Amino acid sequence: MTKIAVIGLGNMGGPMAGNLVKAGHEVVGFDTSDMAAAAARAAGVAVKANLAEAAAGADVVITMLPNGRLVLECLRGLLAHAPGGALFIDSSTIDVADARTAHEEAGSAGMKFVDAPVSGGTGGAAAATLTFMVGGTDDAFARAQPILANMGRKIVHCGAAGAGQAAKICNNMILGISMIAVSEAFVLGEKLGLSHQALFDVASTSSGQCWALTTNCPVPGPVPASPANRDYKPGFAVALMLKDLRLSQDCAAKFGADTRLGKQAAEIFEAFADAGGAGQDFSGIIAAIRDRSA
Ligand code: NAD
Repeated sequence: MTKIAVIGLGNMGGPMAGNLVKAGHEVVGFDTSDMAAAAARAAGVAVKANLAEAAAGADVVITMLPNGRLVLECLRGLLAHAPGGALFIDSSTIDVADARTAHEEAGSAGMKFVDAPVSGGTGGAAAATLTFMVGGTDDAFARAQPILANMGRKIVHCGAAGAGQAAKICNNMILGISMIAVSEAFVLGEKLGLSHQALFDVASTSSGQCWALTTNCPVPGPVPASPANRDYKPGFAVALMLKDLRLSQDCAAKFGADTRLGKQAAEIFEAFADAGGAGQDFSGIIAAIRDRSA
């Protein structure tokens, strides 16, 4: 049995901590939200009053927080209290540069660190079917792998420090662009008198096939489980997609990649969020495309 501290017990961290409890670990946690803390307590997590108490005696510390600033802030609060040699796993989606800073600071404090962002959403967090994209040394990955296996189905060692975050933002840039592409195709099809089902039947078995079409289809009907069938309730919220697209565009600017479709996707989702769509599933973007096509 491993003693694991989970910091950030929200929509993702809460169920992930619950799966670690189910796997038989001793799980402690901390969250600034009373509601998140109460839900985690109900799932068997021993919720502590602060970071220091959560880190004390922990073999592994997992952070699942909204952004890089909070990850670094919490990490600094945790490093002083965790036992030497503890393994830190950050599964938040954050900037590659922040992840590399976290690696350096943890290393200087004598700890192991991996960046291990996830894909699979809240459903994957609950069902322990997340995909983890991991950056860090072979040694740190080998230690993290069995812990991550309690929360996910696929665990990929992407490379050195920051490689997990790099894979995450590249993947989500594909996703953001492809959701817009699929939505544009449905709107054009509507103009041409093509039924949603006919376009789906062709594109889902042709070269237009992609996750945005076959799993998260932006029109109701062809994929009964997609958010389009429940008024675009997320799912994967526009605000989170926008966050990830901005992270990819910051990196593209900094490292000199010509990602003009990624840039446009960020602008399209930003306009949709500003117009009130931030809380909708990202497939709701089809409504904005339809409006602009009226
Ligand atoms: P969330 O807002 O539901 O949870 C974050 C939790 O962190 C909240 O409960 C909040 O109270 C807590 N928190 C904030 N500051 C804190 C602090 N200083 N100390 C302790 N706790 C603190 O967000 P989420 O949906 O669980 O997402 C977490 C991370 O996972 C984000 O980086 C997000 O981008 C990423 N992610 C989310 C999804 C998804 O579908 N929700 C999918 C993949 C990745």
